[in-house]
Amino acid sequence: MTYTIKTEKNEWEIVCGLEIHCQIISKSKIFSGASTEFGDDANENVSFIDAGMPGMLPVLNKECVRQAVKTGLGLNAEINKYSVFSRKNYFYADQPNGYQITQYEYPIVGFGKVKIDLSDGTSKEIGITRIHIEQDAAKSIHDLNPKKSYIDFNRAGVGLMEIVTEPDFRSPEEAGAFLKKLRSIVRYLGTCDGNMDEGSMRCDASISVRLKGEAGMRERAEVKNVNSVKFAMQAIENEAKRQVEIYEQGGTIAQQTCRFDQTTGQTKFMRLKEYADDYRYFPEPDLPPLELTDEYIEQIKKEMVELPDAKKERFIKDFGLTAYDADVLTEAKETADFFEKAAAGHDGKKVANWILGDLFANLNANKLTLDQSPVKPEMIGELVDLISNNTISGKIAKDVFALMWQTGDMPSKIVEEKGLKQVTDSGAIEALVDSVLAQNAENLALYKAGKTNLFGFFVGQVMKQSKGSANPQMVNELLKKKLG
Ligand code: MN
Repeated sequence: MTYTIKTEKNEWEIVCGLEIHCQIISKSKIFSGASTEFGDDANENVSFIDAGMPGMLPVLNKECVRQAVKTGLGLNAEINKYSVFSRKNYFYADQPNGYQITQYEYPIVGFGKVKIDLSDGTSKEIGITRIHIEQDAAKSIHDLNPKKSYIDFNRAGVGLMEIVTEPDFRSPEEAGAFLKKLRSIVRYLGTCDGNMDEGSMRCDASISVRLKGEAGMRERAEVKNVNSVKFAMQAIENEAKRQVEIYEQGGTIAQQTCRFDQTTGQTKFMRLKEYADDYRYFPEPDLPPLELTDEYIEQIKKEMVELPDAKKERFIKDFGLTAYDADVLTEAKETADFFEKAAAGHDGKKVANWILGDLFANLNANKLTLDQSPVKPEMIGELVDLISNNTISGKIAKDVFALMWQTGDMPSKIVEEKGLKQVTDSGAIEALVDSVLAQNAENLALYKAGKTNLFGFFVGQVMKQSKGSANPQMVNELLKKKLG
């Protein structure tokens, strides 16, 4: 889907790339043994090296390396068997060493690609430039005291994967779809919890615009630390519009860093952007180059879980789901697992309808997550069977579902106890039909005189007399026969 910003004179397009910092799931930090627990008291989990004490040496955490390799494989990327740690030199109060240990010329993961699905039914491949691993900075807190800033070092040294994309995004929607896909993949892999609001996944967007058809790229602005998918989309849209406005007024854009204001949705100029040279990168003398073996990478490949794209394709093929339904069911692994458990041995398409319909509606209305659901997978499978084998009608099934939600009982138990079993005994239904026709002699006469749209009225009366328990198809057939 093409997205352009139209002005009186011109059509502009967006050129955008993303850099996403993902906190690595590991028990301890990337270069120290301190805990990575989120939400502990401030400065509880700080080792000497995290605090920048002199003479302390970093020791690389194996688990962080493993997680980065896993993530690289999940993004269909090359794993670099040789990578090097570098020092990125800059002063900031939350960075007591005066440098960050990161990777520069030789990152652990190289080129990769991720498929995104768009709302118009098309898909697009987004290029991954690289993933490097590095240490997180401490957290500065400016809003606790009007005169002081505080620093919490619990975050200092937590392992990060910085995932850098190619400037492949041409619309806010594409960037949003990518962030959702990336979040879904790292959650499937268990390498990052993907919680943008807690800051464990943070997005920087590099945004420039150019005239439609123009070659090359113009100067860009980088919007820092956006903490939700919605805000990232807003920041891209508004920053692009801001740049278009400046160009149209004859102005120029300098490479710059901006921040995103959540209350106004606008981007604000912060500072001119520093260039890589400014950081005086050099190889980290306290850590040797990281070398991985083929066997090591192969072993991790063997442990990979099925990822959302593959699962989606399989759900479409094996269960006959629509692309949209399969997409919704596979976004979170918990939902996909729930569906598969429910669908095992039952009609998958019908199971999907109940999950995406009544179950999701009830979960949303009660603000519950899937694992808090009183309705369990096996209950949905059984409910679908009760409808297919004519034990209950689809209409009664809705009531049964409501009772499943209230009681947590199996549908068969509810049907038994409440006497909701559908009447499929043709003799019993015939008796009902006869009695309805006898009671409505006037309408019967009208029907016979040609008012055939009264058919629905008779069906309704029979269903009503059976308290909804008569098999609707049999009612229809018997009525047709009787009314000739
Ligand atoms: Mn970084």
